[in-house]
Amino acid sequence: MDKRELYDSFVNLEQNTQQMLAKIDEMKTDMTQILERNAELEIENQHLREHLEELQTPESEAAQAKRSGESGADDKTPQLSKSRANLEKLYEEGFHVCYLMYGSRRIDDEPCAFCLDVIYGERH
Ligand SMILES: [Zn+2]
Repeated sequence: MDKRELYDSFVNLEQNTQQMLAKIDEMKTDMTQILERNAELEIENQHLREHLEELQTPESEAAQAKRSGESGADDKTPQLSKSRANLEKLYEEGFHVCYLMYGSRRIDDEPCAFCLDVIYGERH
């Protein structure tokens, strides 16, 4: 292999690598969008399920009151409601559940005060 040939194949390799990096970057963007969309759908699905449940069990308030009466002993660690538990799960999986950045990915799992307020804050 002469020097010119060596140089050419090196340039070739460099170009291929750059193309591949660009492609990887593109795929990463696509994947992020899919994950975000998935989180959104999961939240929407959860809301719809809860709404359906409400419609199907008109006596749910009485049942909830009974249940909270039974678990009255451990008031110090109140159970999260089902929807909040789901939001917590999504948050722990690395997604925002706050209204500002709803469904988008938390960069490097950085904590978000708005999300924490939605999950653990006072009842709105
Ligand atoms: Zn957030």
